[in-house]
Amino acid sequence: MTRTTEKGHGPLKLATRLITGGRNPDESFGFVSIPPYRGSTVLYPSAKACLARESRYAYGLTGNPSMEQLNTLWSELEGAEGSVALCSGAAACTVALLAVLSAGDHLLVPDSVYRPTRNFCNGMLRRMGIETTYYDPMIGGGIRTLFKPNTRAIFTESPGSHTFEVQDIPAIVAAAREINAFTLMDNTWATAIYFKALDFGIDISINAATKYPSGHSDVLAGMIAANARALPLVKAAHYELGQYLSPDDTYTLLRGLRSMDLRLREQGKAALEIAHWLKARPEVLKVLHPALPDCPGHEFFKRDFTGSSGLFGFVLKPGYDSLAFIDATDLFGVGFSWGGFESLMIPVDATSYRTVTPFAPGGACIRIQIGLENIEDLKADLAQAFAAIAT
Ligand SMILES: *Cc1c(COP(=O)(O)O)cnc(C)c1O
Repeated sequence: MTRTTEKGHGPLKLATRLITGGRNPDESFGFVSIPPYRGSTVLYPSAKACLARESRYAYGLTGNPSMEQLNTLWSELEGAEGSVALCSGAAACTVALLAVLSAGDHLLVPDSVYRPTRNFCNGMLRRMGIETTYYDPMIGGGIRTLFKPNTRAIFTESPGSHTFEVQDIPAIVAAAREINAFTLMDNTWATAIYFKALDFGIDISINAATKYPSGHSDVLAGMIAANARALPLVKAAHYELGQYLSPDDTYTLLRGLRSMDLRLREQGKAALEIAHWLKARPEVLKVLHPALPDCPGHEFFKRDFTGSSGLFGFVLKPGYDSLAFIDATDLFGVGFSWGGFESLMIPVDATSYRTVTPFAPGGACIRIQIGLENIEDLKADLAQAFAAIAT
């Protein structure tokens, strides 16, 4: 399939890359989508060929046609040297950390980090003799003050998926380079569509593909994309830990990815409109949406991001009950995760686990994910929920 610059139309745009990336109809009897190859054993033509691993795929765990397609597409999207697919977003975070850390190393992690990543640092990494220091997500270049002689890696997550602080990634990357530390980013919120982590100098970009890339709340998956410096370490850790994505889930993820640009654009647009609508409500104190000035790091969002996704937070004025509000809605499901086609809300309480920067937004905080429902229906539902808690 010809699909690069060969026909003289210049580098392909992102939406086109998502549609064409990794596809090779010649290898699937002409069919558009490649079926999942459910397989463990790969047969070799002879014992000699087996010994020399003379075949395109060695074993089902480590390679199959759809896995190859997925990695090609994802690496193009991220502008990465290469990428690997894993069985969850959580596995993507832990395998990426294990790829670069060894006993005796020091790691820096933002206080706003996704909670299971924090649990991994405080649990298994600590047991392995790796020390974590949490830092204020707004620290920027001030991160230098936390460096130790053994600081090996800096983890970032921007914006934080519960509290939405946008980090000054260029400042952190510049500081990390002075000590040759690896930089990692959980880029689940923006995805490479709205924030090209590797172009900003991040070594390892992590995505919970469970969210927007799959898009239908029906698969758990994670992706790690890496630059040339980090890729051999990422591939080795992935192989040694064996946290691969199953063929069926690889298929499902690829299916979702083809429409990610369209979904993200619609959900981002609707979320921004609802964020402004909420901001104008008398019951709302603040809206923690990176594109709105209430959000810490809004200036970095404006400088570095090319768009916003469909997840944000809002804070009710004192006296309003967030649990009653959530329960009063009809179209918003109550549940973890996000990035699917359906709208969701959860109460946010970050006070219990943060250790460096208290999260005290001034009222009860709600995280909201905007799905693909009609926006007027969503606004009407929110309006009736506000009316319900006023009485
Ligand atoms: C959901 C999420 C993960 C983990 O993804 P799972 O597939 O649910 O394990 C990691 N980081 C962030 C920011 C997330 O929102």
